[in-house]
Amino acid sequence: MRFLLGFLVVLVIAWRWRAWRESKQLEKRNTAPDPTLASDMVSCKQCGLHIPSNEAVLGRLGSYCSTDHRRQLEP
Ligand SMILES: [Zn+2]
Repeated sequence: MRFLLGFLVVLVIAWRWRAWRESKQLEKRNTAPDPTLASDMVSCKQCGLHIPSNEAVLGRLGSYCSTDHRRQLEP
């Protein structure tokens, strides 16, 4: 009987822990960064470096990571 009780306690703890972990994961997924923000990346025409589009230097042929790289491709 004592063995059965101990087994039940372990089972309940394991079940509670799993429920807690799943709720934590769900929380994490909900607070994850917006995928539309992550896709807002452009690559430099010169070196291929990925940069956020709001930090990119825009040229006639595309986006660049710096004005130096824009000057190299678009003199
Ligand atoms: Zn570059």
